[in-house]
Amino acid sequence: MPNEYYDVIIVGGGTGGLNLAALLSHAGKKVLVLERSGEEGLGGRAASATLNGSAVDNGIKGLIMAGTQDEVFRRIGKEIPENVCEWTNSGQVYMDGQWRKLDDMIQESPNEFIRVYKQTAVDLTYEQLEELEDISIEKFVTDNTDDQNVIDFFRYLGWLFGGTLPIPTDYSAGSLFYSIKKQVDTNGFMPSQSYWVKGGTGAIATRLIESIKENGGEIRTNTPVSRIVIENGRAIGVEIEEGPKVIPTQFRDTTLFEAPVVVSAVAIWDIFNILSKDDLSPWYAERLEYTHRRTLNLATLTYELDKEGLWDHTGQRWAQKGPVSGKPWCASSLRYSEDKNRYQASFWMQLGWWEKPNYFQMNDASHKTALKKLFEDWEADVKILFPQVVENALWKIRAFGPATIMEAPGNVGSKLIDIEAEGIEGLYLVGERTSAAKIMGVYGSAQTALKAFDLIVDKYPVK
Ligand SMILES: Cc1cc2nc3c(=O)[nH]c(=O)nc-3n(C[C@H](O)[C@H](O)[C@H](O)COP(=O)(O)OP(=O)(O)OC[C@H]3O[C@@H](n4cnc5c(N)ncnc54)[C@H](O)[C@@H]3O)c2cc1C
Repeated sequence: MPNEYYDVIIVGGGTGGLNLAALLSHAGKKVLVLERSGEEGLGGRAASATLNGSAVDNGIKGLIMAGTQDEVFRRIGKEIPENVCEWTNSGQVYMDGQWRKLDDMIQESPNEFIRVYKQTAVDLTYEQLEELEDISIEKFVTDNTDDQNVIDFFRYLGWLFGGTLPIPTDYSAGSLFYSIKKQVDTNGFMPSQSYWVKGGTGAIATRLIESIKENGGEIRTNTPVSRIVIENGRAIGVEIEEGPKVIPTQFRDTTLFEAPVVVSAVAIWDIFNILSKDDLSPWYAERLEYTHRRTLNLATLTYELDKEGLWDHTGQRWAQKGPVSGKPWCASSLRYSEDKNRYQASFWMQLGWWEKPNYFQMNDASHKTALKKLFEDWEADVKILFPQVVENALWKIRAFGPATIMEAPGNVGSKLIDIEAEGIEGLYLVGERTSAAKIMGVYGSAQTALKAFDLIVDKYPVK
């Protein structure tokens, strides 16, 4: 098969890769996206499926309104998919056997809260926030106040901010406040405005794919890349294996797809399948490995219901310690499906970091047993705290997966990798793993796509 030529080859058709492909093809670049899964897997971890006529997301529970995904849609001239349900920061925390309103922590110390909050998210510029990248939240907040309510508030901000769980106190203050500032700039004063996408988060991928194709971009599914090819310090293309794989040990022929710019948009745990550490500078390889070990794993439980108002669906509930599981988890809002009068109650639980017992390498029976028990105990928690949800469920889905690096302990700016692979000409990495992401999840991926786009067209102008 003859070699093929493109301006930019993007490995991975998750939202990171698709956002970048949409931006580049809209700007006139000849782009090829290679995705290992089938059509239905486009969107990656943000893909959606349909179950009994309802959209089911691949784990995702809500998107942070931080403006970056909207910015991509604005630049490519497409509407951002419609938002079906918003939630705000009016939630409650289940601690010491009772529900406590997070708002109360603010109300008990309003002036001090506003002072600390204002001097970060509101008054500091994005450039000044960059300087806080290597400072932990714990240090930043305790250096700025003695007020326990304010310290607690920032500790619980992970819940408020992304709808998940408290972020570790050694997480980067710069990244946290950057994300808050983006949300403040997009929505007004308070952070943590999140929303459900109509048709599931997969609707984002669908619209990006439309735009890529309209602008002459190419997407090949069922095409796993086996290697990014690097020669004499520059990326020259990617190799894919050809022909049927008949026996597991078979060595197949490869085809080279050439491009002066290659983007890895695969998740962090897949990077070393396509990139050899030996090709990278030792320093960059070390940072990549560090990031790789800092993955946050999430489990989610979704119940579909046909009743309205089981609890205030604009707020979230966070159980600091589940009554049976003993683990912290978050109860997200209900998604309203206008056409069918259906709701989805969503629960999510943060599992271990990469180096802790890993529920995602469950090739052996003991891991499967552990995960089964985890879900059973968790469902028992839900039944105690939200009996109406369990009793009225039309169906439920248990899901789990590696989610993000954003909240990992010690995850401060300069330890994370940059978008430009140091020492290798023409190689870029996008997705929520890079230091440029800052915002969690899909909006973090969009943020890195925007930055990668600027870097690429600056260095390789559109002819
Ligand atoms: C359970 C769970 C809950 C989550 N909840 C939220 C949430 O509520 N809000 C939020 O914003 N985010 C959430 N996230 C995170 C969000 O899903 C991710 O941050 C985002 O989708 C990452 O996009 P990405 O493009 O960087 O990576 P991915 O979506 O992982 O895309 C990478 C793509 O690369 C492909 N690939 C890998 N290797 C190869 C190869 N060799 N060749 C070709 N293709 C390859 C993969 O198949 C995949 O499609 C959640 C994730 C999980 C797992």
